[in-house]
Parts: sequence; C-alpha cells; structure tokens
Amino acid sequence: MGHMKILILGKNGQVGWELQRSLQPLGEVIALDRYEDVEHGFSGDITNFEAIEKVIQTFQPDIVLNATAYTAVDKAESEVEQADLVNHIAVKHLAEQCKAIDALLIHYSTDYVFNGQGTAAWQEDDTTEPQNAYGKTKRNGEIALEQSQVKFINLRTSWVYASRGHNFIKTMLKLAQSKDELSIIDDQIGAPTGAALIADVTAQIVRYYALQPQLQQKHLLGHYHLAAQGETSWYAYANYIFDVAKAHGLALQLKTVKPISTVDYPTPAVRPLNSRLNTQKLQQMFALHLPQWQQGVEHMIKETL
Ligand code: NDP
Repeated sequence: MGHMKILILGKNGQVGWELQRSLQPLGEVIALDRYEDVEHGFSGDITNFEAIEKVIQTFQPDIVLNATAYTAVDKAESEVEQADLVNHIAVKHLAEQCKAIDALLIHYSTDYVFNGQGTAAWQEDDTTEPQNAYGKTKRNGEIALEQSQVKFINLRTSWVYASRGHNFIKTMLKLAQSKDELSIIDDQIGAPTGAALIADVTAQIVRYYALQPQLQQKHLLGHYHLAAQGETSWYAYANYIFDVAKAHGLALQLKTVKPISTVDYPTPAVRPLNSRLNTQKLQQMFALHLPQWQQGVEHMIKETL
C-alpha cells in the first residue's frame, strides 16, 4: 500500500486513546474527537455527517478506524434514539463515506450482539440476538456495515478496560479501599480485554492487511472476535484484581467479597450470562497470538498503583 493515511475517530475513548499510540508507526495519522481539531480544522463528531464527509474527502484516508460509540449500557435503555444515532445511523453514514473513496473501515462491536445463552464461545457467524438496547444499536451498526458494501473489518470485543477511562478495575480498586464488603456477580462469564491489546492487535491487522496483494485483502474482510484468552466471572475477576493490588502493597479496607447472581442485582439493561468469544478466526487469519486475560489486567494494575 506504500504510504498509508489513517484516520482515527473517537480518539479519547479507551480504545481510541490506545489506537493513537499503536498506529503511529504505520502511517500518517489524524486522530479526532467530537470537537473541532485546531491543527487541521476538522471535526470528528460522527453524528455530524457534513463534518465527517469533509474530513474523509479532504484527508482521503486509506484506513478509517471508528472507535466512537455510545457505551453507557444502562442509560441506552432510556436514550435509545441517541444510542442508535451514534452506534448505527452514524456508522451507516461513515460506511458510505468510506465506500465512496474505497477506504477500509475498521469498526468495533460487542459480545452483547448475542443472546448470552449456553456456555459455548460465540463464533463470528453465530446468530445474533441482542438482549438490550445498547446491543441492538451495536448490531444495527454491524448490519449497516454489511449493507453498505464498504470494505470493513468489524472487531467484536468484551469487558474492555484501560488505564485511561472508567472501567471495572478502577471501580474495584476504589471500592476496595473504602468498603468492608462487596457483592459481585458470579454468573456472567467473559474475558476482560485491555484497550491496549485491542489497539495493538488492530495495528497488526492494519499492517498485515496492507502487506497483502489487493486480491488477497478481500479475504480478510468481515467480522472477527477479539478478546483476551481464558474466561472468568466478574466475581473471580474482582478477586484477581484485589490479589494483585495486595501483592503490590495496596492497603485494602475490604474484608469480604460475596458472589451474587445476576437475578439478585437488577439493572435497567439485561446483560448476557455467556460473553465468551471464540477468537480462533482472528488468530488464524492474521497470524496472531492472544494472551491470557490476567496478563493485561496485572500490567494495568501495576501501572495504576
Ligand atoms: P468509550 O466509551 O471509552 O469511548 C467511546 C468514545 O466515543 C468516547 O471518547 C466518546 O466521546 C466518543 N463518542 C461518543 N459519541 C461521539 C460522537 N457523536 N462523535 C465523536 N465521538 C463520540 O468506549 P470504549 O473505548 O470502551 O469502546 C470502544 C468500542 O468497543 C466501542 O465500539 C464499544 O461499543 C466496544 N465495546 C466496548 C466494551 C466496553 O466494555 N467498554 C465492551 C465491548 C465492546 P465523549 O467522551 O466525548 O462522549
């Protein structure tokens, strides 16, 4: 592909922030958030269709990474329209813009597109059946990609955490320093996946794709599952976080951690019990190896303490 031009949307999200780091060595990068960027005069508000058209037509990226999303899962139940605008309608428009200049669109989605039944790890072509509003809007976004005929790679991930942003690890570390007792859900199973891993894998995907002859590139398009290896419950995950934090000298107030089940902890949005993602396809197609989930979690905790 030669000199590559790369556009990142959603640069301040957990994944967007890490993409800004991991993609730098691959080409000329412009990274935007929803506000006007002083350096280039571009705005990356994905719901501002004119602004998105302007940046794509002017910059002419070879690759566009969409790290924007409406990710407030419970709030989405009462703000369906706003969630659908960001996760679906805007994605449809972005896909059309990428299609118009033949750019590759890399997008992110979620295990919440599945119904969470059973115990088998979800494969890419399993039937989708989202159980909450957020999941439905994310699935609508995927369908928009499929229908637009854009060249896309959609990476479905799960349980994302990062040094920057709000997430389960940070919440647990804070609570463990102020509470005696915590009750944590023990019957939702998945794999915590670091934004840094997602971004590093994305960079590998971009590089692998760019090095293929054009005829081979189209075999790499489509849906993929990207998560760390292994599986855990939120309860076991929390205990792992506390163990690592203690081992690194953090004084915890916490005395008791109780496992509870999903039915005992009602939330506005229904959450799937089985969030396991089968990542074989990604590892095979892009010659990648995914680490066990504990590796990134320990790394992030050490970095944070
Ligand atoms: P974050 O919520 O950390 O980041 C999302 C970013 O999108 C924010 O920076 C937000 O900006 C931005 N954004 C929202 N609306 C707009 C808009 N109209 N225009 C421009 N930017 C906008 O999400 P993550 O990084 O965690 O998620 C990345 C991807 O991974 C998403 O597709 C998500 O659906 C998926 N995913 C996430 C999971 C998780 O646990 N977090 C689990 C599974 C999948 P602002 O702060 O200004 O609102």
